[in-house]
Amino acid sequence: MTMAPAPFETHEVLNQPPPLVDYDLFGTDRALKEAVVREGADWAMDELGSFGRKLGSAETIEAGRLANAYPPVPRLFDRYGRRIDEVEFHPAWHELMGLAIGEGLHTRPWAEPRPGAHVARAAGVIMMVQIEAGVQCPTTMTYGVVPALKKAPAIAAEWRPRLYSRQYDKRMIPAPEKTGVLMGMGMTEKQGGSDLRANMTRATPAGDAYRLDGHKWFFSAPMCDAFLVLAQAPGGLSCFFLPRFLPDGSRNALHVQRLKDKLGNKANASSEVEFHGATAWLVGEEGRGVPTIIEMGNYTRLDCALGSTGLMRQAVAQASHHAAHRSAFQKRLIDQPLMTNVLADLAIESEAATALVLRLARAYDAQEDPAETAFRRMLTPAAKYWICKRGPALGAEAMEVLGGNGYVEEAIMARLYRELPLNSIWEGSGNVMCLDVLRALAKTPEALDVALAEIQTARGADRRLDAHVTALTDEVARDGFQESQARRLVERLVLALQGALLVRHGDAAVANGFCASRLASSQSGAFGTLPQGIDIRAIAERTRPAI
Ligand SMILES: Cc1cc2nc3c(=O)[nH]c(=O)nc-3n(C[C@H](O)[C@H](O)[C@H](O)COP(=O)(O)OP(=O)(O)OC[C@H]3O[C@@H](n4cnc5c(N)ncnc54)[C@H](O)[C@@H]3O)c2cc1C
Repeated sequence: MTMAPAPFETHEVLNQPPPLVDYDLFGTDRALKEAVVREGADWAMDELGSFGRKLGSAETIEAGRLANAYPPVPRLFDRYGRRIDEVEFHPAWHELMGLAIGEGLHTRPWAEPRPGAHVARAAGVIMMVQIEAGVQCPTTMTYGVVPALKKAPAIAAEWRPRLYSRQYDKRMIPAPEKTGVLMGMGMTEKQGGSDLRANMTRATPAGDAYRLDGHKWFFSAPMCDAFLVLAQAPGGLSCFFLPRFLPDGSRNALHVQRLKDKLGNKANASSEVEFHGATAWLVGEEGRGVPTIIEMGNYTRLDCALGSTGLMRQAVAQASHHAAHRSAFQKRLIDQPLMTNVLADLAIESEAATALVLRLARAYDAQEDPAETAFRRMLTPAAKYWICKRGPALGAEAMEVLGGNGYVEEAIMARLYRELPLNSIWEGSGNVMCLDVLRALAKTPEALDVALAEIQTARGADRRLDAHVTALTDEVARDGFQESQARRLVERLVLALQGALLVRHGDAAVANGFCASRLASSQSGAFGTLPQGIDIRAIAERTRPAI
């Protein structure tokens, strides 16, 4: 008699990590927690912790997936053929928007000002984008609008209470009937985005308002309740407030043409629009449109740097989590020396970004301080440039840590990877940021002194940092600020600031690794090239969200 062979298990799942869910995004991010305390928002630790746990729950992470798997669709007409120019979203998007607005990421530092308010918000943004980055777009634009509205006191008085509300209201109805509103902005036209003076949209005076005719080529979050837009008035390029509904309750003539089919940022709607006699009100003076809207740009650029910092943190968290649970050649990946080096190098980049953006956020808390004002004017484009530039490279390397798993859609890695280049492009692309740093230095030369004074507080603590700073200041003294060298200057300045922050306040192993790889030698190659003498094990372990 022959025995039947034992059944062979064909679908046993072995050596795959547990999903990274039901964890505390804040509590497991040491660099972020330390920076929040250091930069003056220690009062927010508890609430950031509960926000971090809410975001890290399996349900919220699933909402992030759904909002991207089912992107928004345009609903331009009603069943009778009347224009409605609306966008329809998956319920998960509204759930996530509710979370972001409930936390006050759109306006809380304005609504409830206190020392550290911008820092606390910055930490919230860094966490929010890790779960779903699309919601950052309307949230950020609303954050940036509030200071720009100072130039239109009557509109500000009417709209501020609605903008300050933490009750998200998804309905497309007139603003006075809503529990909370959001705002967007329209600058970019087909013929020019960086060069805003090329704007062609026309603004014709009509009573106390203006009639707008023209288009915007990129117009994100078109379901917002109002927008700041640029248009050519008789006195030159000007900034206008354009609501979706007019005071009589009718829809304004803002017509959505189509939604963009984007590389990433799928959950967020970005549209092309035309204005066919839309009604808008002047913000500031005619001819002063760029300076008015640029006021908003400082805040949105800060958020690009925060966004990439958060996306990088999530990529590193995913990579280190995977490597801690996956074995190859009888050893966990995180314990394989070459992989440990890769993880430590990624972690250093993420920690350096975190330290810098929270320091920058503190400059936004010191609104009235002239030195901090000059500092943030120069550092905002500089930080946006360098942090957003590092993002895609880090995202690609972190994805590779997951091997083939990293490249499939179900892993969040693919989404992070597609999202990362965007922060480098919108709100002013890389070159434009570096040229803006030169402009800031030309207008407020003291900004460089403030930055150097901050860097010098670390003098003597690390010879590699000292040598880097001496070389940088010598080069500036010799060559000045040349346009063709702007990227080189900005990169080296940001590295000096990151180095100083890490040397003074950061983890000792991280600071040592940073100075060895980013200052003593130029890290122009791949991640995972940290030299001998760095405690790569300690760095890789420190960054891992151990669950
Ligand atoms: C998904 C998405 C959503 C967006 N949403 C909005 C929105 O809601 N509202 C809005 O107004 N805009 C929005 N934008 C537009 C975005 O801000 C612009 O695309 C960006 O500012 C660049 O402008 P541009 O596309 O016209 O490129 P260009 O201005 O043509 O620039 C092309 C390249 O040339 C470089 N460059 C430009 N000038 C110089 C120079 N003097 N020296 C050297 N290099 C230079 C730039 O850095 C860039 O790399 C969005 C873009 C994207 C991708």
